[in-house]
Amino acid sequence: MNILAFGPNGSGKGTQGAIVKEKYGLDHIESGAIFREHIKGGTELGKKAKEYIDRGDLVPDEITIPMVLETLAKSKEKGWLLDGFPRSLAQAEALDKALKESGMALDYVIEIILDREIAKERIMGRRLCANDNNHPNHIAFEAIKPVEKDGHLVCRVCGGELSARADDQDEEAINKRHNIYYDDKTGTMAAVNYFKNNSNAKVISVDGSKAIKEISEEIMSQLN
Ligand SMILES: [Zn+2]
Repeated sequence: MNILAFGPNGSGKGTQGAIVKEKYGLDHIESGAIFREHIKGGTELGKKAKEYIDRGDLVPDEITIPMVLETLAKSKEKGWLLDGFPRSLAQAEALDKALKESGMALDYVIEIILDREIAKERIMGRRLCANDNNHPNHIAFEAIKPVEKDGHLVCRVCGGELSARADDQDEEAINKRHNIYYDDKTGTMAAVNYFKNNSNAKVISVDGSKAIKEISEEIMSQLN
């Protein structure tokens, strides 16, 4: 089973990807890991990609697409769930073409739909517990809201001090990523629409505002 997963930062795409990967024994492939693997492995494509990255330039699709394809081909037996790629309409078209040429099927496209403002709120509301990274705390979710102690918020599990990741508070960076994702002309939303209109893959669209468990159940019920 081969799957593409789409969803804006803050939609819980990574979490859902991990659940699906676990259940179906797939390789969960994140786009960032593809670059790291090729560069670390010193492959021809990796060397070319590194030149662009070192200059601070975007790696062109002519290099990225074959790189992605090579990585996916390694997971041919187990099946794969690709996360974080394609990001644009052009990449979607190129990937679709390359997959067809390689004889690899794309079976499902999972799309987690979430309002942009809510996605941003979700990222910015995350809090980390000083005692344990796995203690869930989020100022926007009633179920895992931190508790108040001596006039400030502390971990709801252990009472530990809370902090926010600097990345999660970088509104400019979040907006930049969301600008690409929510662009339905040439960006990631356009890529999702491309697969809806041009691919034989079954598109599973789920409401990302629901609870993690509800979302995963809905995805599972449509994967078969
Ligand atoms: Zn804690």
